[in-house]
Amino acid sequence: MERNLNTCNNCGNESDQPLCQPCATRLANDLNTLRSNLPALREEASRRSTVVRREHGGGSRSVAPIPLNMGAFQLVHDIDEFAGMLGRALNLNYNRHMPSESLLKAASQRIPALASRKDIAHLMHVARRYAHQSVMTLTPPEDRRMVGLCPTCERELWCTDTEIAGQWIVCRCGETLKVTDVQEQHLLTCALAENENTQGTASAVSKLLLANGIKVRRQTIAQWKNRGILVPCGWDSGKPVYRVWAVWKCIVRNS
Ligand SMILES: [Zn+2]
Ligand SMILES: [Zn+2]
Repeated sequence: MERNLNTCNNCGNESDQPLCQPCATRLANDLNTLRSNLPALREEASRRSTVVRREHGGGSRSVAPIPLNMGAFQLVHDIDEFAGMLGRALNLNYNRHMPSESLLKAASQRIPALASRKDIAHLMHVARRYAHQSVMTLTPPEDRRMVGLCPTCERELWCTDTEIAGQWIVCRCGETLKVTDVQEQHLLTCALAENENTQGTASAVSKLLLANGIKVRRQTIAQWKNRGILVPCGWDSGKPVYRVWAVWKCIVRNS
């Protein structure tokens, strides 16, 4: 599509620059928000749970604590990728060791160089989304938890416990979603993405699931075991160890 020379590439308002002043300011602000939130996000992403992972077959066992806050972990990864992409777009002598903070800062000072790119509207959309997610992750709403992403519009879905208990939620894009479907998808793309055999003691599994917005008490897991609904896959220092996926299946078995 030909650009009309007198309009902003992002909002379409009249502008003698590729980006109008409000849009240019907004992009610079969002990039600055990302840069200033990154250190705290990294800290949040580095919190680990003690859930153990076991490799397939051979009985070989590797213990690799996995991130407690998968949302933060994923977001840091996404922002790093985004910063690297901006660095390459701006030919910023990009190298692997240049921290994202430096790349974001440099980009925020070179808005005119980004403004005439064909994909500037998309870049602005991504910067806005990550900036919003970074704020939500660092100062989560007290009464809500992130249950997963909307499959249609990829928005993060933050729900109250009441909404979660209601089993169905409506995304702002209009999509009606079953809470457990969203949670299951989130669990698969985050906590279990690298190893579906992720397992841990009742308290470790409970902690991991809670960090992913799924509430199940340690005692409930023990009761399932006592009733024969859930079978431990092993033992760790005398405590039963369960597969996270098996516990999830117990949670949703009646829904
Ligand atoms: Zn504009
Ligand atoms: Zn949606």
